[in-house]
Amino acid sequence: MYKLAIVVPCYNEEAILKNTCETLVNLLDDLTLTGKITDQSYVLFVNDGSSDDSWNILCREHDLSNRINAINLAANVGHQNALLAGLDYVQDDVDIAISIDADLQDDICVIEQMIDKYSKGADIVYGVRNNRKSDSFLKRNSANLFYKFMTAMGVKTIYNHADFRLMSRRVIKQLMLYKERNLYLRGIIPSLGYKTDCVYYTRLKRGGGKSKYSLSKMLRLASDGITSFTTRPITLITVLGFIIILFALAAFVYTLISYFTGNTAPGWSSLMISIWFLGGVQLFSIGIVGKYVGKAYFETKQRPRYDIVEELKHE
Ligand code: UDP
Ligand code: MG
Repeated sequence: MYKLAIVVPCYNEEAILKNTCETLVNLLDDLTLTGKITDQSYVLFVNDGSSDDSWNILCREHDLSNRINAINLAANVGHQNALLAGLDYVQDDVDIAISIDADLQDDICVIEQMIDKYSKGADIVYGVRNNRKSDSFLKRNSANLFYKFMTAMGVKTIYNHADFRLMSRRVIKQLMLYKERNLYLRGIIPSLGYKTDCVYYTRLKRGGGKSKYSLSKMLRLASDGITSFTTRPITLITVLGFIIILFALAAFVYTLISYFTGNTAPGWSSLMISIWFLGGVQLFSIGIVGKYVGKAYFETKQRPRYDIVEELKHE
Protein backbone atom coordinates (compact mmCIF):
# COMPACT_ATOMS: atom_id res chain seq x y z
CA MET A 1 0.00 0.00 0.00
CA TYR A 2 1.31 3.40 -0.97
CA LYS A 3 0.80 6.84 0.41
CA LEU A 4 -0.48 9.03 -2.41
CA ALA A 5 -0.86 12.77 -2.82
CA ILE A 6 -2.92 14.16 -5.68
CA VAL A 7 -1.47 17.58 -6.49
CA VAL A 8 -3.89 20.07 -8.00
CA PRO A 9 -2.83 23.58 -9.06
CA CYS A 10 -5.73 26.00 -9.17
CA TYR A 11 -6.13 29.53 -10.35
CA ASN A 12 -9.54 31.22 -10.11
CA GLU A 13 -11.43 27.94 -10.04
CA GLU A 14 -14.27 28.87 -7.66
CA ALA A 15 -16.86 27.53 -10.09
CA ILE A 16 -15.66 23.95 -9.86
CA LEU A 17 -13.51 23.56 -6.74
CA LYS A 18 -16.21 22.18 -4.47
CA ASN A 19 -17.12 19.53 -6.98
CA THR A 20 -13.44 18.70 -7.57
CA CYS A 21 -12.89 18.24 -3.82
CA GLU A 22 -15.83 15.88 -3.46
CA THR A 23 -14.87 13.83 -6.51
CA LEU A 24 -11.26 13.43 -5.45
CA VAL A 25 -12.09 12.60 -1.84
CA ASN A 26 -14.50 9.91 -3.04
CA LEU A 27 -11.82 8.54 -5.31
CA LEU A 28 -9.29 8.38 -2.46
CA ASP A 29 -11.86 6.65 -0.25
CA ASP A 30 -12.52 4.04 -2.96
CA LEU A 31 -8.83 3.44 -3.56
CA THR A 32 -8.29 3.03 0.18
CA LEU A 33 -11.12 0.49 0.39
CA THR A 34 -9.66 -1.58 -2.44
CA GLY A 35 -6.32 -1.51 -0.63
CA LYS A 36 -4.32 0.40 -3.24
CA ILE A 37 -3.36 3.36 -1.05
CA THR A 38 -3.10 4.14 2.65
CA ASP A 39 -5.80 6.08 4.44
CA GLN A 40 -3.18 8.78 5.02
CA SER A 41 -3.34 9.67 1.32
CA TYR A 42 -4.63 13.13 0.50
CA VAL A 43 -5.26 15.83 -2.06
CA LEU A 44 -2.98 18.88 -2.04
CA PHE A 45 -4.42 21.98 -3.68
CA VAL A 46 -2.00 24.69 -4.69
CA ASN A 47 -3.81 28.00 -4.83
CA ASP A 48 -1.86 29.92 -7.45
CA GLY A 49 -2.66 33.46 -6.31
CA SER A 50 -6.35 33.27 -7.24
CA SER A 51 -8.22 36.54 -7.06
CA ASP A 52 -11.63 34.89 -6.60
CA ASP A 53 -13.11 32.84 -3.77
CA SER A 54 -10.97 29.73 -4.40
CA TRP A 55 -8.94 29.93 -1.19
CA ASN A 56 -12.01 30.35 1.02
CA ILE A 57 -13.60 27.35 -0.60
CA LEU A 58 -10.43 25.35 0.08
CA CYS A 59 -10.47 26.43 3.75
CA ARG A 60 -14.04 25.20 4.09
CA GLU A 61 -13.33 21.91 2.34
CA HIS A 62 -10.26 21.40 4.51
CA ASP A 63 -12.45 21.66 7.63
CA LEU A 64 -14.93 19.19 6.19
CA SER A 65 -12.52 16.47 5.11
CA ASN A 66 -9.22 15.26 6.50
CA ARG A 67 -8.21 14.28 2.98
CA ILE A 68 -7.99 17.89 1.81
CA ASN A 69 -4.78 19.86 2.29
CA ALA A 70 -3.85 23.10 0.60
CA ILE A 71 -1.11 25.66 0.27
CA ASN A 72 -1.60 29.29 -0.70
CA LEU A 73 0.99 30.99 -2.90
CA ALA A 74 1.76 34.66 -2.42
CA ALA A 75 1.28 35.49 -6.11
CA ASN A 76 0.23 33.93 -9.39
CA VAL A 77 3.32 32.09 -10.65
CA GLY A 78 1.73 30.09 -13.47
CA HIS A 79 0.61 26.50 -13.83
CA GLN A 80 4.07 24.91 -14.10
CA ASN A 81 5.56 26.65 -11.08
CA ALA A 82 2.42 26.08 -9.02
CA LEU A 83 2.61 22.38 -9.82
CA LEU A 84 6.25 22.34 -8.87
CA ALA A 85 5.46 24.06 -5.56
CA GLY A 86 2.97 21.28 -4.81
CA LEU A 87 5.36 18.48 -5.74
CA ASP A 88 8.12 20.06 -3.69
CA TYR A 89 5.77 20.33 -0.73
CA VAL A 90 4.71 16.67 -0.73
CA GLN A 91 7.99 15.03 -1.77
CA ASP A 92 9.16 13.91 1.66
CA ASP A 93 5.73 12.91 2.80
CA VAL A 94 4.45 10.45 0.20
CA ASP A 95 5.50 7.47 -1.93
CA ILE A 96 3.82 8.70 -5.08
CA ALA A 97 2.24 11.92 -6.35
CA ILE A 98 -0.23 12.35 -9.17
CA SER A 99 -0.69 15.77 -10.74
CA ILE A 100 -4.00 16.72 -12.29
CA ASP A 101 -5.74 19.95 -13.33
CA ALA A 102 -8.46 21.35 -11.08
CA ASP A 103 -11.10 21.12 -13.80
CA LEU A 104 -10.78 17.28 -13.80
CA GLN A 105 -10.90 17.18 -17.59
CA ASP A 106 -8.55 14.26 -17.29
CA ASP A 107 -10.28 11.01 -16.47
CA ILE A 108 -9.67 10.14 -12.82
CA CYS A 109 -10.80 6.56 -13.46
CA VAL A 110 -7.34 5.74 -14.82
CA ILE A 111 -5.65 6.73 -11.57
CA GLU A 112 -6.09 3.18 -10.31
CA GLN A 113 -4.31 1.86 -13.42
CA MET A 114 -1.52 4.39 -12.82
CA ILE A 115 -0.98 3.01 -9.32
CA ASP A 116 -1.01 -0.55 -10.66
CA LYS A 117 1.66 0.35 -13.21
CA TYR A 118 3.70 1.93 -10.44
CA SER A 119 3.45 -1.23 -8.37
CA LYS A 120 4.72 -3.13 -11.43
CA GLY A 121 7.84 -1.00 -11.42
CA ALA A 122 7.16 2.16 -13.44
CA ASP A 123 8.52 5.32 -11.83
CA ILE A 124 6.63 7.67 -14.13
CA VAL A 125 3.18 6.92 -15.57
CA TYR A 126 1.90 9.35 -18.19
CA GLY A 127 -1.78 9.99 -18.76
CA VAL A 128 -2.17 10.12 -22.54
CA ARG A 129 -5.26 11.29 -24.39
CA ASN A 130 -6.88 9.01 -26.94
CA ASN A 131 -8.08 11.92 -29.04
CA ARG A 132 -8.68 15.64 -28.95
CA LYS A 133 -12.39 15.65 -29.70
CA SER A 134 -13.20 17.79 -26.66
CA ASP A 135 -10.84 20.58 -27.79
CA SER A 136 -11.69 23.57 -29.91
CA PHE A 137 -10.54 23.52 -33.53
CA LEU A 138 -7.83 26.06 -32.78
CA LYS A 139 -6.47 24.25 -29.73
CA ARG A 140 -6.46 20.86 -31.43
CA ASN A 141 -4.54 22.06 -34.45
CA SER A 142 -2.15 24.30 -32.59
CA ALA A 143 -1.36 21.40 -30.24
CA ASN A 144 -0.64 19.04 -33.13
CA LEU A 145 1.58 21.59 -34.80
CA PHE A 146 3.37 22.15 -31.51
CA TYR A 147 4.19 18.46 -30.99
CA LYS A 148 5.49 18.17 -34.56
CA PHE A 149 7.58 21.29 -34.14
CA MET A 150 9.01 20.13 -30.81
CA THR A 151 10.05 16.82 -32.32
CA ALA A 152 11.64 18.61 -35.28
CA MET A 153 13.55 20.82 -32.82
CA GLY A 154 14.85 17.75 -31.02
CA VAL A 155 12.85 17.98 -27.77
CA LYS A 156 11.56 14.73 -26.29
CA THR A 157 7.84 15.04 -25.57
CA ILE A 158 5.06 12.55 -25.03
CA TYR A 159 2.43 13.04 -27.71
CA ASN A 160 -0.97 14.14 -26.34
CA HIS A 161 0.20 14.12 -22.74
CA ALA A 162 -0.34 17.20 -20.59
CA ASP A 163 0.40 17.38 -16.89
CA PHE A 164 -1.65 14.39 -15.77
CA ARG A 165 0.95 11.94 -14.52
CA LEU A 166 2.14 9.80 -11.66
CA MET A 167 5.63 10.23 -10.28
CA SER A 168 7.43 8.21 -7.67
CA ARG A 169 9.21 9.88 -4.83
CA ARG A 170 12.65 9.44 -6.32
CA VAL A 171 11.55 11.02 -9.60
CA ILE A 172 10.22 14.06 -7.74
CA LYS A 173 13.47 14.30 -5.81
CA GLN A 174 15.41 14.19 -9.06
CA LEU A 175 13.11 16.80 -10.61
CA MET A 176 13.74 19.16 -7.71
CA LEU A 177 17.44 19.20 -8.59
CA TYR A 178 16.52 21.15 -11.73
CA LYS A 179 16.84 24.65 -10.41
CA GLU A 180 15.93 26.63 -13.51
CA ARG A 181 13.17 29.18 -13.24
CA ASN A 182 11.80 28.68 -16.69
CA LEU A 183 10.34 25.29 -16.29
CA TYR A 184 8.72 23.16 -18.89
CA LEU A 185 7.82 19.97 -17.05
CA ARG A 186 6.51 18.13 -20.11
CA GLY A 187 10.00 18.35 -21.57
CA ILE A 188 12.09 17.81 -18.44
CA ILE A 189 10.30 14.75 -17.14
CA PRO A 190 10.75 12.59 -20.28
CA SER A 191 14.43 13.54 -20.25
CA LEU A 192 14.88 12.20 -16.70
CA GLY A 193 14.84 8.60 -17.86
CA TYR A 194 13.54 5.95 -15.39
CA LYS A 195 11.11 3.21 -16.23
CA THR A 196 7.98 4.79 -17.68
CA ASP A 197 4.54 3.66 -18.75
CA CYS A 198 1.33 5.18 -20.09
CA VAL A 199 -2.38 4.94 -19.42
CA TYR A 200 -4.92 6.07 -22.01
CA TYR A 201 -8.12 8.03 -21.51
CA THR A 202 -10.60 10.29 -23.21
CA ARG A 203 -10.49 13.88 -22.09
CA LEU A 204 -13.76 15.54 -21.11
CA LYS A 205 -14.91 19.10 -21.63
CA ARG A 206 -14.35 21.59 -18.81
CA GLY A 207 -17.20 21.24 -16.28
CA GLY A 208 -17.33 24.93 -15.39
CA GLY A 209 -15.26 28.08 -15.34
CA LYS A 210 -13.03 29.11 -18.21
CA SER A 211 -9.76 27.81 -19.61
CA LYS A 212 -6.86 29.77 -18.14
CA TYR A 213 -4.74 29.14 -21.20
CA SER A 214 -5.32 31.92 -23.67
CA LEU A 215 -3.69 31.77 -27.08
CA SER A 216 -0.89 34.03 -25.90
CA LYS A 217 -0.24 31.84 -22.84
CA MET A 218 -0.12 28.75 -25.07
CA LEU A 219 2.35 30.45 -27.41
CA ARG A 220 4.50 31.42 -24.44
CA LEU A 221 4.46 27.86 -23.12
CA ALA A 222 5.45 26.62 -26.58
CA SER A 223 8.30 29.08 -27.00
CA ASP A 224 9.52 28.37 -23.45
CA GLY A 225 9.29 24.68 -24.15
CA ILE A 226 11.51 24.94 -27.18
CA THR A 227 14.06 27.42 -25.93
CA SER A 228 14.47 25.63 -22.60
CA PHE A 229 15.56 22.42 -24.25
CA THR A 230 17.42 23.09 -27.41
CA THR A 231 19.51 25.67 -29.19
CA ARG A 232 18.62 24.18 -32.55
CA PRO A 233 16.76 27.37 -33.60
CA ILE A 234 20.06 29.26 -33.37
CA THR A 235 21.75 26.61 -35.51
CA LEU A 236 18.96 26.94 -38.06
CA ILE A 237 19.39 30.72 -38.12
CA THR A 238 23.07 30.26 -38.85
CA VAL A 239 22.26 27.90 -41.71
CA LEU A 240 19.65 30.35 -43.00
CA GLY A 241 22.17 33.19 -42.92
CA PHE A 242 24.64 31.07 -44.86
CA ILE A 243 22.07 30.24 -47.53
CA ILE A 244 21.14 33.91 -47.90
CA ILE A 245 24.81 34.79 -48.33
CA LEU A 246 25.03 32.24 -51.15
CA PHE A 247 22.01 33.88 -52.80
CA ALA A 248 23.60 37.29 -52.47
CA LEU A 249 26.80 35.99 -54.08
CA ALA A 250 24.79 34.54 -56.96
CA ALA A 251 23.01 37.86 -57.40
CA PHE A 252 26.35 39.66 -57.43
CA VAL A 253 27.74 37.39 -60.12
CA TYR A 254 24.56 37.87 -62.14
CA THR A 255 24.83 41.68 -61.90
CA LEU A 256 28.44 41.58 -63.01
CA ILE A 257 27.55 39.49 -66.03
CA SER A 258 24.65 41.73 -67.02
CA TYR A 259 26.90 44.78 -66.58
CA PHE A 260 29.42 43.45 -69.08
CA THR A 261 26.79 42.26 -71.54
CA GLY A 262 25.22 45.72 -71.34
CA ASN A 263 21.65 44.93 -70.26
CA THR A 264 21.27 46.42 -66.76
CA ALA A 265 17.92 45.64 -65.18
CA PRO A 266 15.89 48.54 -63.62
CA GLY A 267 14.17 46.40 -60.90
CA TRP A 268 13.46 48.92 -58.12
CA SER A 269 10.64 46.86 -56.60
CA SER A 270 12.64 43.65 -56.48
CA LEU A 271 15.36 45.59 -54.69
CA MET A 272 12.94 46.90 -52.06
CA ILE A 273 11.38 43.49 -51.54
CA SER A 274 14.72 41.87 -50.94
CA ILE A 275 15.73 44.62 -48.49
CA TRP A 276 12.54 44.25 -46.53
CA PHE A 277 12.70 40.50 -46.62
CA LEU A 278 16.25 40.36 -45.39
CA GLY A 279 15.53 43.04 -42.78
CA GLY A 280 12.67 40.89 -41.54
CA VAL A 281 14.76 37.75 -41.44
CA GLN A 282 17.44 39.55 -39.50
CA LEU A 283 15.08 41.03 -36.93
CA PHE A 284 13.36 37.70 -36.45
CA SER A 285 16.71 35.96 -36.00
CA ILE A 286 17.98 38.56 -33.57
CA GLY A 287 14.70 38.09 -31.69
CA ILE A 288 15.31 34.36 -31.31
CA VAL A 289 18.90 34.83 -30.19
CA GLY A 290 17.65 37.54 -27.83
CA LYS A 291 15.22 35.10 -26.29
CA TYR A 292 18.11 32.87 -25.26
CA VAL A 293 20.12 35.80 -23.95
CA GLY A 294 17.09 36.96 -21.98
CA LYS A 295 16.66 33.51 -20.52
CA ALA A 296 20.27 33.39 -19.41
CA TYR A 297 19.75 36.82 -17.84
CA PHE A 298 16.77 35.68 -15.81
CA GLU A 299 18.43 32.43 -14.74
CA THR A 300 21.45 34.30 -13.37
CA LYS A 301 19.17 36.26 -11.04
CA GLN A 302 18.20 33.01 -9.27
CA ARG A 303 14.95 34.47 -8.04
CA PRO A 304 12.69 32.21 -5.98
CA ARG A 305 10.04 30.42 -8.00
CA TYR A 306 7.22 30.82 -5.51
CA ASP A 307 6.43 31.63 -1.90
CA ILE A 308 4.04 29.68 0.30
CA VAL A 309 2.18 32.03 2.63
CA GLU A 310 -0.42 29.71 4.20
CA GLU A 311 -0.77 26.00 4.77
CA LEU A 312 -3.82 23.90 5.55
CA LYS A 313 -2.59 20.56 6.76
CA HIS A 314 -4.07 17.66 8.75
CA GLU A 315 -1.50 15.92 10.90
N1 UDP B 1 -3.53 27.19 -13.53
C1 UDP B 1 -2.69 27.68 -12.53
N2 UDP B 1 -2.08 28.91 -12.72
C2 UDP B 1 -2.26 29.66 -13.85
C3 UDP B 1 -3.10 29.11 -14.87
C4 UDP B 1 -3.71 27.88 -14.67
O1 UDP B 1 -2.49 27.05 -11.50
O2 UDP B 1 -1.71 30.74 -13.95
C5 UDP B 1 -4.18 25.87 -13.32
C6 UDP B 1 -5.67 25.85 -13.55
O3 UDP B 1 -6.38 26.21 -12.40
C7 UDP B 1 -5.91 24.40 -13.92
C8 UDP B 1 -4.64 24.03 -14.66
O4 UDP B 1 -3.66 25.01 -14.29
O5 UDP B 1 -6.02 23.56 -12.80
C9 UDP B 1 -4.83 23.99 -16.15
O6 UDP B 1 -5.48 25.16 -16.60
P1 UDP B 1 -6.69 25.11 -17.63
O7 UDP B 1 -7.64 24.01 -17.29
O8 UDP B 1 -7.28 26.47 -17.68
O9 UDP B 1 -5.92 24.79 -18.99
P2 UDP B 1 -6.45 23.91 -20.24
O10 UDP B 1 -7.01 22.63 -19.70
O11 UDP B 1 -7.47 24.74 -20.90
O12 UDP B 1 -5.21 23.70 -21.05
MG1 MG C 1 -8.36 22.34 -18.36
